[in-house]
Amino acid sequence: MARYTGPVCRLCRRERTKLYLKGERCFTLKCPVSENSDRQTRAFPPGMHGRDRQRQGSEYLTQLREKQKARRIYGLLEKQFRNLYEEANRRPGITGTNLLQFLELRLDNVAYRAGWGSSRAQARQFVRHGHVSVNAKRVTIPSYRVRPGDVVALKGVTRDNFNVRRNLDIMDRSVPGWLEKGEDGFAVTVRVVPQREQIDESIREQLIVELYSK
Ligand code: SF4
Repeated sequence: MARYTGPVCRLCRRERTKLYLKGERCFTLKCPVSENSDRQTRAFPPGMHGRDRQRQGSEYLTQLREKQKARRIYGLLEKQFRNLYEEANRRPGITGTNLLQFLELRLDNVAYRAGWGSSRAQARQFVRHGHVSVNAKRVTIPSYRVRPGDVVALKGVTRDNFNVRRNLDIMDRSVPGWLEKGEDGFAVTVRVVPQREQIDESIREQLIVELYSK
């Protein structure tokens, strides 16, 4: 499936917030959105007139920006995101929460939450290149949806990969409560479907639902 391959800091600047798309760099002063950036802070939208552009503050704009933010955090294109919303809408329960749960249960996101990738893009690459298995079977589909009870693990040889070790040691991210670490952090078991309070992304999903249900 296609993915966005353009400059990613531009996406954060568009949303005027950190989306943490570049892994370790996002925590350094090189981040252009950081207030203390060692480069010139560029926390304004990209483009020739980005600095001058005034926010219009319409309801539609707020909803659109929230949708774009969520889509970019999880690295989905519009069509994939829209399809996921449609499925979330068909399921019983709260549509916004269903949507976030589907996003969290993607295999590339689980590999990221496990701390193997410094960003979702890197975690997605591990999946695409066959380094990740689900219940001991190799799965190379980043959008694969895991279920409670599934064991997601890194391939043996990949456990010695410099980047994986570095991410586990240096980034030192804790695994969310709906996952359980095993095999020295090289495997995680999906305990339950994540509840809204276990998803720490600052996304206002209700705005996305309002946008799509117009
Ligand atoms: Fe976003 Fe990370 Fe780039 Fe900062 S360094 S703008 S958080 S992708």
